[in-house]
Amino acid sequence: MAQKRQPRGRLPAGSRLPASARQRQLPSSTPLFMDTFIQNSGLGDILDKVRAGERLSIDDGRRLFESADILAVGYLANIVRERLNGNRAYFIYNQHINYSNVCTNLCKFCAFGKDRDSELAYEMSVEDVKDKVRQRLDEPITEIHMVGGIHPDLPYSYYLELLRGIKEVRPRVHIQAFTCVEIAHLAGLAGKGIGETLEELKEAGLGSIPGGGAEVFSPRIRKLTCEKKLPGVDWIKVSKIAHQHGLRTNATMLYGHIETIDERLEHLDALRRAQDETGGFLTFIPLSFHPKNTEMSEHSRTTGIDDLKNIAVARLFLDNFPHIKAYWVMIGPKLAQVALSFGADDLDGTVKEEVITHMAGAETDQAIGHKTLIRLIREAGRRPMERDTLYNVLQSF
Ligand code: SF4
Repeated sequence: MAQKRQPRGRLPAGSRLPASARQRQLPSSTPLFMDTFIQNSGLGDILDKVRAGERLSIDDGRRLFESADILAVGYLANIVRERLNGNRAYFIYNQHINYSNVCTNLCKFCAFGKDRDSELAYEMSVEDVKDKVRQRLDEPITEIHMVGGIHPDLPYSYYLELLRGIKEVRPRVHIQAFTCVEIAHLAGLAGKGIGETLEELKEAGLGSIPGGGAEVFSPRIRKLTCEKKLPGVDWIKVSKIAHQHGLRTNATMLYGHIETIDERLEHLDALRRAQDETGGFLTFIPLSFHPKNTEMSEHSRTTGIDDLKNIAVARLFLDNFPHIKAYWVMIGPKLAQVALSFGADDLDGTVKEEVITHMAGAETDQAIGHKTLIRLIREAGRRPMERDTLYNVLQSF
């Protein structure tokens, strides 16, 4: 079993940053009018905490979510963003593959998962997936991101073969695959523990685990929207076991439907506590709810202010997460660009064929060019850094 890792940027409750880091939070050029501005917004005590590197409480988080002053919240988040990641903004050259949308969970907020009898249901054979990888062999893709539904029939061997097949076609690619919900399902299929299953998946080529399936951990929300899904406590357990087995994972939160501010904060708090224990999370990705074609289509899309606030509050609250992602597919490239000044330091990547959010009515493109990503980042005043899955910098621009 792997040793506990000390996460980058981790700040246990009540702790303070080293003096050198504290100095960086408040450059001498910081205009005094910003102090007055933050004081006037009623968040002056939070500014003091942020500068001192003190952990924010749930009550602080609630006040940030409830603040009408998005610029003040963003300013605070930017202090932490620049302390942890300077002027860097990361992206990756990646390809998404969704091997099947057949799913027994049929979550009400999901437009992707389909009953096996639905005319929109599909599943790819291992050869189909290998073909998808082959079709892009001429592109400098470093990561395959692969998730699917909870399929009632596919055997455990299929998933191992998927990983091996991708590695056969593209041996050096990093495979980030199978949410914690899928991992728990695979362990059930294998009749093995989570740890043993993860070891077998690693052996077959799994490199890390994406952050999906977290939704909102609250049992109330899960009962109302995704009753059959792995409970939130078990999602966290799977993540922690993955960390103990040396796999880095991400975390998400699906916001903008029926969750309350307190339920968002309970979700973030559970992630922060888990990260204190293992340090294995790399990135937090707030996911804005897309209602079209779901059973919750009576809801409206999230607003730009709520999108920015979720990113900013996450950056402030999750002091032990190294990275916060503005997923351009969900909030659009233009708002993602703005989010780079509201706490985010990552835009995800080229994506190449996003399906899940587009089945729920996303109006963004299904892929974005390398040059476009660089331009978006540069124009936001940040330094573009092309990374691999584990945030090793491959090129800077
Ligand atoms: S969110 Fe995941 S588990 Fe739920 S229906 Fe969609 S694919 Fe299935």
